[in-house]
Amino acid sequence: MSADTGFVNGEVSYWYREEGLPGPGPRLDGNLPADVVIVGAGYTGLWTAYYLKQADPSLDVVLLEKEFAGFGASGRNGGWLTAALAGSPERYARSHGHDAAVRLQREMITSVDEVIAACEKEGIDADIVKGGVLTVARGSAQTARLRASVTRMRSWGFEEEDLRLVEPGERLRVAGAVAGSWSPHCARVQPAKLVQGLARVVRGLGVRIFEGTPVTELAPHRAITPYGTVSAPYVIRATEGFTAGISGLRRQWLPMNSSMIVTAPLPEAFWDEVGWQGRDLLGDEAHYYMYAQRTADDRIAFGGRGKPYLYGSRIDARGHTPAQTVDALWSLLLDFFPGAATSRVEHAWSGVLGVPRDWCSTVHVDHATGLGWAGGYTGHGVTTANLAGRTLRDLILREKSELTSLPWVGRTVRRWEPEPLRWLGVHAMYGLYRAADARERTRPRTSFLARLADLITGHA
Ligand SMILES: Cc1cc2nc3c(=O)[nH]c(=O)nc-3n(C[C@H](O)[C@H](O)[C@H](O)COP(=O)(O)OP(=O)(O)OC[C@H]3O[C@@H](n4cnc5c(N)ncnc54)[C@H](O)[C@@H]3O)c2cc1C
Repeated sequence: MSADTGFVNGEVSYWYREEGLPGPGPRLDGNLPADVVIVGAGYTGLWTAYYLKQADPSLDVVLLEKEFAGFGASGRNGGWLTAALAGSPERYARSHGHDAAVRLQREMITSVDEVIAACEKEGIDADIVKGGVLTVARGSAQTARLRASVTRMRSWGFEEEDLRLVEPGERLRVAGAVAGSWSPHCARVQPAKLVQGLARVVRGLGVRIFEGTPVTELAPHRAITPYGTVSAPYVIRATEGFTAGISGLRRQWLPMNSSMIVTAPLPEAFWDEVGWQGRDLLGDEAHYYMYAQRTADDRIAFGGRGKPYLYGSRIDARGHTPAQTVDALWSLLLDFFPGAATSRVEHAWSGVLGVPRDWCSTVHVDHATGLGWAGGYTGHGVTTANLAGRTLRDLILREKSELTSLPWVGRTVRRWEPEPLRWLGVHAMYGLYRAADARERTRPRTSFLARLADLITGHA
């Protein structure tokens, strides 16, 4: 890898490089009453504030943010505005029935368009292109999984126009791809532009966002910070991968790491060779999966797991990424696109996403305590946070709707094990996934190692 001058590691993410990191906004200064206080100014917190104010402009909504709006995964992600369910479809079907799971899947598809429409309406320019998503299989075992996912969608009543098999190279050419599937229900976004745009819009609606204001404790009707307490009938936690940092919530959602690199801009000849004209998002069927996008400024942004988890649910806050992870991502990128070898890595960063013990997301409001939350999106939060925002609106306003009866509402999930079991479990799982990917290079079926990994952590 050539990490020449101009290489930046961490500093939140590449997505802020053009505009620069936002300056600190006002901090909370003393106690405050509000109608709704939301903790965390990422997509979840901001969409919730947005839809509450749309429904009732008179509501006094306050957001408390530890750093700045968009500091978390919302300012660092791969920019997949995806209709993929945040959790195992089979598990939702098992717990709530097939029809409920299908309804959730349909809401996710609608939510992709809802985000695009809201951005258009509010003048948020987040480089959105709805170019669909291509999933490639590189090997027979991956092909079998890819075909199975298309078959499952068909059995759920989704058609060719929702997801279909494509010939290798039909959408874009990935080295080693032997099969592919493509769905139109996915759009590319520039994550930081989306979150910054949302913050601007909600401020315009009269929502007060206090930055540099960490909430240390959540109590019924109160969010407590070192600079004062906000009291409100409703206190909504929207801290996703950072939740373990709040008193009493260490074992709630595991902060799983994801890391990304971005190349230098690639020349037109490269894009012609690869055929990546439609701005499709790109993923694969490996257990240790990758995700990528062609950015608006003609780079490849490429992500993967990196170092999955830090002991004790610690978080490396500003996204500094170990050289080993940067090298591994760069090697994988070149394996997919050998023609990118003349380029180089210009930025690497990492972030955390929230993983519940059963790998399925939740949205919940308890009217007695006023405490609510949404998250545990397991790496599929860009679209899901919008659905969460609209669902939290309905729950807070006590409106029974299609959204409040979706199967992810009000679920109870058991906590993660204490350390060292948590660390051992996650590392064993990813060790097994890596080994399974290696074995599958020469074998036709999903490796038993991957099934063992799923068993250990309940990830199925
Ligand atoms: C590298 C990476 C790539 C990803 N790629 C994709 C993708 O392509 N598509 C997809 O759908 N999902 C992706 N995800 C997941 C997705 O980004 C998240 O699920 C989503 O952004 C979560 O939004 P959120 O608002 O719930 O949380 P966050 O954006 O993490 O926001 C939480 C906020 O809470 C603040 N906070 C934390 N603790 C406190 C506290 N104590 N007091 C006050 N504030 C606090 C944080 O500073 C942060 O701003 C990715 C995640 C990562 C890390």
